[in-house]
Parts: sequence; structure tokens; C-alpha cells
Amino acid sequence: MHAPLVVLGGGPGGYAAAFFAADKGLEVTLVEGESRLGGTCLLRGCIPSKALLHVARVIGETEALSHDWGVQFDRPRIAIEVLRARKNKIIATLAAGLGQLAKRRKVRVIHARGILQDSQTLRLDGEDPSIPAERSLTFDHLIVATGSLPAIPSTLAVSSPLVMDSSGALDLADVPESMLVVGGGYIGLEMGTVYAKLGTKVSLVELTEGLLPGVDRDLVKPLANHFSRLVEDRIYLNTKVGSLGDVGDAVEVAFEGPGRFGVERFDRVLVAVGRRPASQGFGLEQTNVRVNERGFIVCDRQQRTDDPRILAIGDVAGEPMLAHKASHEARVAVETILGHPSEFAPAAIPAVVFTDPELAWAGLTEETARREGRPYEVAVYPWAASGRAQALGRTEGLTKWLVDPDTEIVIGCGICGPGAGELIGEAALAIEMACELHDLAGTIHAHPTLAETLMNAAEVFYGTATEIYKPRK
Ligand code: FAD
Ligand code: NAD
Repeated sequence: MHAPLVVLGGGPGGYAAAFFAADKGLEVTLVEGESRLGGTCLLRGCIPSKALLHVARVIGETEALSHDWGVQFDRPRIAIEVLRARKNKIIATLAAGLGQLAKRRKVRVIHARGILQDSQTLRLDGEDPSIPAERSLTFDHLIVATGSLPAIPSTLAVSSPLVMDSSGALDLADVPESMLVVGGGYIGLEMGTVYAKLGTKVSLVELTEGLLPGVDRDLVKPLANHFSRLVEDRIYLNTKVGSLGDVGDAVEVAFEGPGRFGVERFDRVLVAVGRRPASQGFGLEQTNVRVNERGFIVCDRQQRTDDPRILAIGDVAGEPMLAHKASHEARVAVETILGHPSEFAPAAIPAVVFTDPELAWAGLTEETARREGRPYEVAVYPWAASGRAQALGRTEGLTKWLVDPDTEIVIGCGICGPGAGELIGEAALAIEMACELHDLAGTIHAHPTLAETLMNAAEVFYGTATEIYKPRK
């Protein structure tokens, strides 16, 4: 059986590529190993975590009202099975929607594990009725979108229902009394927030000296302070887990580091120390595709690999491992196949940590600019000066622009505060459009909004922010 274009993997990279290719008139076959489309993002990532974070946020807001505003609420009573069912229903609705969209676009979906036999043949393993009798496909082009998997170092690889990865944590089997989160990155902070708000006594251990290593410290600070209060200071930095062991009804953890030393027991452990590209076990070595030392498929800006028939997108094709980066690369890959002069060269890929407060950035960070020796100036607007932030009782946030000192073109933005994930959209557009700071200062933003802080931070640069007195040096 021959298929002109095969997409391997039905996550936000793969289904975006398949649908876009079909919209452009190509005949597309999408091969996905699981029974539903959606990939990590929909089935055990972005969407379920954000559904649970929505609940965590509302619980946090009611607590703040009780504490600070004289509006009393009872402690929430969590019907865990209802919460779990609601989350699962959101996933099911969206996954079914993707199935329908594939059908309407006439994308042929085969639920099989695809194994490359050579540079133009894919074997189809599995039992699903969608698998053709030939059990293999030849193709003109293949887009590999196989995503990523949790990376679990050997010391933390314990086979026990009490030791979970992010998928286990999102299954929400119960709300344990205590939980240790290993890793202070995206997943550790997001899922740590969920469980802490549901009532679990959460502790977090992080190998490096701070949460979210690599992100600008001034942005991380309000989040770190908030999270530290949430977990009653049980954040152990510069500390590693020497060993983990299931002792029946708990997990025994040996800490080694200045943040914590010695043995402690937890009802559950969530290991969230990063993800690795899913580039093994499906025959890439039978092709000319090259994989780098970290397991990512090497590809150029047109998403082409070293094998002329094969392109790669999404988590398997390099960092950042984010859904919107995957779906953007998907379009580039399809345009490359169509012979268009397209390339993946974004000035800004927004990144959002959906904690409370949220943390978002786009374009250059100060850490990256310093590392790359790029000259930059910074303009910061503290949310304490924002009427809207005061009205929300959330004055800990900040909005900052990074600017090219010669041209005044914006090259980066960082925001910490509630809703930062929504606000960063304007910044991403400004950076992509090469706006100058005076464009932002001169654009009327509605008052009182948190979006105004983007305009205000630009005014800070010129020493003319109305609500703060900070003359330009
Ligand atoms: P995936 O979504 O991983 O999809 C790959 C698909 O390929 C899978 O369905 C897999 O079954 C299939 N596959 C693999 N090998 C084969 C094979 N040989 N044959 C057939 N099928 C195969 N990103 C964000 O941008 N925002 C977020 O809020 C966010 N939250 C996250 C929360 C969690 C807990 C996790 C774990 C991740 C989160 N991410 C988030 C990251 C996001 O999920 C990934 O960046 C995104 O899913 C990558 O898309 P992809 O298409 O490259 O791969
Ligand atoms: P991460 O890279 O974000 O964070 C891992 C953390 O674990 C780091 O702080 C690292 O220093 C620490 N660490 C590493 N080894 C350790 C050890 N042995 N002991 C203690 N700490 C250790 O990885 P993640 O949180 O697992 O998330 C994986 C990826 O998934 C993210 O990088 C991101 O690309 C994606 N993701 C995105 C979102 C989002 O967009 N909101 C949410 C979740 C996941």
C-alpha cells in the first residue's frame, strides 16, 4: 500500500501537520499508536493539567478572599471521582473532536505502532481494525512527530504505584496525605500546586540552586515566594535524592544535600526531572535520519532530516518541548513538502508556567542574552503600581521588556503574575513584528487591566510611567 504523505504520531505536532497538509490538498495518512488522537498534550499533559490547575486557582482565590477580604468560605470538600471524571470528559470531548476533524478532512487515521523498515517503508504493528491487511505502507514523505517521554534517571526508576511520573499524577487516583515532588521545573511546580491545593502536604526537592533553572530570577521570585508559602517552606534546593524505596505503605527517600539530609517517608513521590525525545524503538536507525547525543532528531529550519524523504517536528525534533512549537513546526514541514520557501525561525516562542502566579516569557531572557553576549536594556514595571493588580490583591507581579539599546526594538518580555500566560501573547506579537518600545508605550491599553502593564513597562524605559516616578538615567 502506498501513501504519498505519512505522519507518524498524532499529538499536537502530528495532527496539526496532517490537518494542514489535508487543507492544502495532500493525501494524508496519520499513524498513531494509541486509540485516540491528541498525544501527550491532550491525553496526559497540557489539557488535563490545566483543567486541574483551574480548580487549584479557584480554591486559592477563595482562600485569599477568606483570609484578606472578609468573605468566608468553608474548606472545600473534594469529590475526587467527580473531579477525575470531569477532567477525563474534557480529554474525551477534545479527542473525539480530533477524530471527527480527521474524518471530515479525509485524513486516513491508522491506529498502529509504526516501525520504519527503511527510508520508505513503515511496518504497522497492532491489532486495531484500522490497520490495512498489508500491515505496511510505503511513502513519498514521512513527518516524524513521535514526541517525548518522561526521563527517569536510574536512581529514581522504582517500579511502584506510589512512585509516579506526570501521567500517574494526572490520573488523580487519590489525594495522598503527603507527596514529594522531585524536580522544580514546569511539571513539578504545576502538579505540586494542584496537589497542594487539593490538600496534600507537598514537599519539593530540586537539584539546582533555584526553581525553574534558566528562567530570569526576578521573574521566578514572586512564584517561588508564593509556592514556598503553599508548601510551608518544604522546598529543598541544591539537594538530590540518593535513593527511593517502596516500603509497603510509603516511599522512603534518602536526601543528600544542604537543603535536606537524611531519610523521610512520603505517601507518594512524583518524579518530574525532564523529558527525553521519543526517537528510539521504531527503526530510525534503518534510515539516514541522524539523532544527536541527547536523542533529538537533527533537522534544518525546513524540518528536513538527513534523509531526503523524512522530516521531523515537535518534541522529538528539539527544544523547547512545547505544544505550540510542535504545531508551528508542523506547518513549516508541510510547506517544505509543498516546495514553499518556509522556515522555522521564530523571534519569540512564548513559554508559560501555569502556576499561581503564572510565569511567562517570550523572545530573549536576560539569562540567554548574557550567555550569548547580546547587548540589552531592561524596563520593569512592578505590579504594585497597577490599579488592577491592587484591586485583585495580586501586587507581587512584574512585567519587563528587554530592548535592543541601539534600535529600541523589543527583543524579549517576561511577566510574572496571574494571567501572565494570556498577556504574553501581545508580547510575542510585538517581538515578531519588531515593535519599538514607543509602539507599545503609544498603544492605548484599556484601564484598568493587567495588559496595561505592558504599556507601562515601555513607559518606564522612557522615564515617563504615570504611576511610578523613575526618571530615565
Ligand atoms: P506528543 O504530544 O508526545 O505526541 C506524540 C505521539 O506520537 C503520541 O501520541 C504517541 O503515542 C505517538 N507515537 C510515538 N511513537 C509512535 C510510533 N512509533 N508509532 C505510532 N505512534 C507513535 N506544552 C505546552 O505547550 N503547554 C503546556 O501547558 C504543557 N503542559 C504539559 C504538561 C505535562 C504534564 C506534560 C508531560 C507536557 C506538557 N506540555 C505542555 C508539553 C507538550 O505536551 C508537548 O510539547 C507536546 O505534546 C509535543 O507534541 P508532539 O506532537 O511533538 O508529541
Ligand atoms: P523541566 O526540565 O521543566 O524541569 C526539571 C527540573 O528537575 C529542573 O529544575 C532540574 O534541575 C530538576 N532536576 C533534574 N534532575 C533532578 C534530580 N535528580 N533531582 C532533583 N531535581 C532534578 O522538566 P519537567 O518539569 O519534567 O517538564 C518536562 C518538559 O515538559 C518541560 O521542559 C516542558 O518542555 C514541558 N512542559 C511544559 C509545560 C508548560 O508549557 N506549561 C508544562 C509541563 C511540561
